[in-house]
Amino acid sequence: MSFNNLGLSEPLLRAIKEQGYTEPTPVQKQAIPVILSGKDILAGAQTGTGKTAGFTLPMLQLLSEHKKAGKKQKVSVLILTPTRELAAQVAESVEVYGKYLPFKSTVIFGGVKINPQIVALRKGVDIIIATPGRLLDHVGQKTVDLSGVDFLILDEADRMLDMGFINDIRKILAILPKERQNLLFSATFSNEIKKLTDTLLKSPALIEVARRNTSSEQVTQVVYSVDRERKRELLSKLISEGEWKQILVFTRTKHGANRLSEQLTKDGIHSAAIHGNKSQNARTKALAQFKQGEVRVLVATDIAARGIDIDQLPHVVNYELPNVPEDYVHRIGRTGRAGSNGEAISLVCVDELELLANIEKLIKKEIHRRVIKGFEPDPSIKPEPIQKKKGQQQRGRGRSHQQPKRGTKTSVLGPSGGDNTSRPRKPRANSSSGRGR
Ligand code: AMP
Repeated sequence: MSFNNLGLSEPLLRAIKEQGYTEPTPVQKQAIPVILSGKDILAGAQTGTGKTAGFTLPMLQLLSEHKKAGKKQKVSVLILTPTRELAAQVAESVEVYGKYLPFKSTVIFGGVKINPQIVALRKGVDIIIATPGRLLDHVGQKTVDLSGVDFLILDEADRMLDMGFINDIRKILAILPKERQNLLFSATFSNEIKKLTDTLLKSPALIEVARRNTSSEQVTQVVYSVDRERKRELLSKLISEGEWKQILVFTRTKHGANRLSEQLTKDGIHSAAIHGNKSQNARTKALAQFKQGEVRVLVATDIAARGIDIDQLPHVVNYELPNVPEDYVHRIGRTGRAGSNGEAISLVCVDELELLANIEKLIKKEIHRRVIKGFEPDPSIKPEPIQKKKGQQQRGRGRSHQQPKRGTKTSVLGPSGGDNTSRPRKPRANSSSGRGR
């Protein structure tokens, strides 16, 4: 099947062609006709599947049909994303695919000055791509009019809920017109997501590319069993001997990320760490160097890594398994992106066997285990309890959306605004000036 058979208009097909896409991805094949038919959809598609074009293309097509029908110049489309980096990436896709159409879009997120956003909104836009917190600030200040929105997209809905946005989402839903088409994209399906979809979606078409709660098919997954004290040594060996070039490594803590990055650099493997304690400039720089191949290893915490969009990232390493199994799916979604293969490697010590079992239960697959000669685990080592981050048990409750540092720049490169897993949300009253939002 080619893009020509999907019912998209010439200006969209031209933009697609310019991107060099020859064939729609599975999520695009499934989602585009259904969205064009006007139905709500619930799509289980993770990052890297081509989901952004999967909703942007039909949205633009419908918008052009509506505009022809003479609809008023109000905001028609609202796309909500969990992080500002994702918002910026989606906005970029809207620009790219909508290049030959006359629609205006703008991106709204916190951590940057609110005034330029107000100016852009005042000029009139058709499409808003926003993170929930800052959008609500605009609603509060009456600088945005959502009364014409008849198309809503929730992208990475599971992350939005994980980050404590449910109340913000509900507030936004309450002010949107009732008659509208809704699309919800999520990599995983928790009970919270099901609750949200029950209230949000009207007899949605279900679209599942990767099976529910399974990890991307294009990713080869392997577990290396190793003692906790020897992980760094094993990682250095794997990188050097495998001649791996671009490796994203996940650690559980910011401190762990720093330490590992320093140790790898001492081993002669150029590394950088990104996490919420680093300045936005430092993070943007590290990510740019990583993309350009100047930094070989990027060590990141889960939240800092959100929104990193690097095509064909060949290696993702779980230096430590995440406490929350869904994070494993998100982590390895960084590799094996549209059409390319990737490898997800987990270094697992005796402390993490329960975490591994939970992950395998979630993805409904046993991950192949390997032991490297010279790194055989010592059977006399007993498991130690894994230190949970403060607030880990409270995951998803009372947690703020990204609150990037003040004065940071808008950047599609920048990793997420902060590792605020344990930081409570500031009361809205304190932030209505737009500070840090
Ligand atoms: P997404 O899952 O939306 O983050 O997309 C992942 C990557 O796939 C992006 O870099 C897109 O540019 C790329 N992509 C989207 N659709 C296609 C396609 N049909 N063929 C090739 N690449 C694509």
